[in-house]
Amino acid sequence: MNKKWKCGVCGFIHDGDGPPQRCPKCAAAAARFALLDDDAADAVERSRHGNAVLCLLVDLGRRIERACKDGLADDLDPGCADVYRKCLEHTYQIMKLSMTEMQSHVGEGKWG
Ligand SMILES: [Zn+2]
Repeated sequence: MNKKWKCGVCGFIHDGDGPPQRCPKCAAAAARFALLDDDAADAVERSRHGNAVLCLLVDLGRRIERACKDGLADDLDPGCADVYRKCLEHTYQIMKLSMTEMQSHVGEGKWG
């Protein structure tokens, strides 16, 4: 696993053999970075994975949205249109839940 360095000013995580010369987020000097231990570094990786899963859910939601709208625009069969409308409702719920969770991660500094 890559070494991870945490900015003591803003919490930014840098991946690399050493800290950056300046924090790209807050411009703090390299001396303000601390090397994370293995458990903390693993928690960062797991958090990044969780964020990636949330992004994937939103992306899949957008693809489902496009497919449903395409089907609704065709308007061939009332039964199909009903399925598309119901799928859209569920998709918007999934996207809303995922984006709300992402927003909470950003607010808690658990993004990046
Ligand atoms: Zn910083």
